[in-house]
Amino acid sequence: MSERLTWIHQELDSLKEAGLYNRIRTLGSPQGAWLMVDGKRVLNFCSNNYLGLANEPVLVKTAQEYTQKFGVGPAAVRSIAGTMDIHLELERRLAAFKGVEAAITFQSGFTANLATLPALVGKEDVIFSDELNHASIIDGSRLSGARIARYGHADPASLEKVIQENAGSYRRGLIVTDGVFSMDGDIAPLDKIYEIAEKYDILLMVDDAHGEGVLGTGGRGIVDHFHLHGKVDVEVGTLSKAFGVVGGVVAGSAVIVEWLRQRGRPFLFSSAVTPADVGACIAAVDILESSTERVDRLWANARYFKEEMKKLGFDTGVSTTPITPVMLGEAPLAQQFSRELFEEGVFAMSIGFPTVPRGKARIRVMISAAHQKEDLDQGLAAFAKVGRKLGVIA
Ligand SMILES: *Cc1c(COP(=O)(O)O)cnc(C)c1O
Repeated sequence: MSERLTWIHQELDSLKEAGLYNRIRTLGSPQGAWLMVDGKRVLNFCSNNYLGLANEPVLVKTAQEYTQKFGVGPAAVRSIAGTMDIHLELERRLAAFKGVEAAITFQSGFTANLATLPALVGKEDVIFSDELNHASIIDGSRLSGARIARYGHADPASLEKVIQENAGSYRRGLIVTDGVFSMDGDIAPLDKIYEIAEKYDILLMVDDAHGEGVLGTGGRGIVDHFHLHGKVDVEVGTLSKAFGVVGGVVAGSAVIVEWLRQRGRPFLFSSAVTPADVGACIAAVDILESSTERVDRLWANARYFKEEMKKLGFDTGVSTTPITPVMLGEAPLAQQFSRELFEEGVFAMSIGFPTVPRGKARIRVMISAAHQKEDLDQGLAAFAKVGRKLGVIA
């Protein structure tokens, strides 16, 4: 074995000892309420397929049609070799859906953040960032070169204090927050944060990856949820979660979108999503605009599951969304819980450090509109059985 790789072997071994090594399961079926995982049919409590669109026949058919008409790949970066009209069509559709002036799409939500933050702030600037923001916000912030001033999680008073502490020391300021926090399922107090952004005349950006298709009327997102239309400068979203496809989007004022077409580096230096992705996303917008039925079912399922889990005695943390963390504490317990659930036919992964803080390991249950009541009941029975066996509940 080569000496120069020894440290990696050591690091991997220590992850395994600490119960933090991530053994990635292999899926052998499309996304849905049930999945084939490592050859076994199990109830799916893991994916971000909130609305059950990932294997929706209309999306699959539209993806096939777009492939037939436009081929399998965009073949170049849009800003260099021209953009396909279908990508522009999707952007117009997303802007209309969200009720904003304009939208620009990216390869993913992750790259949307990597594009946006460095385009809006630089070395002389400061980013006011919620301490639990998503990794892609943190990475985009670092890439920007701006000073990062963290404020207490979902705490407007802390935000205001940090802004005052930094007063006069920067050129431009930007407040950035997750809309729905992916590991805890709580919602940023965007109404209060907006008031502070207004008071200090600071740019406001929200990453609504887990709110897109989930919050607001018919899934129009966190800005709609708080009735802040036209007030939030930048709304980042993903097409990889509730939309069931893949891609990222930035929605907001026309001038910001125009700027991102000039300065958003993942837009300028990386190809766009495929025609199949675009077609499927357009079909998803069609479905969302035609009915709120899926969004309503998602919330009904989430409310039912969470209430029953609380009755069983589980701690589901501070979630107010379909994201349902089951707080377990130490990572090895969470890993064992997940393995036992799998034995009971339920696929729900444990999440530990560094995705969540040490000592706050959990199982994260993702509820979907694709679940039937019987599915949820089966999942609840498995949680009850494993919870009692491992002494988590009485
Ligand atoms: C999932 C997530 C992303 C990344 O979205 P992808 O489209 O999968 O790259 C970005 N931000 C937040 C807050 C997320 O939860």
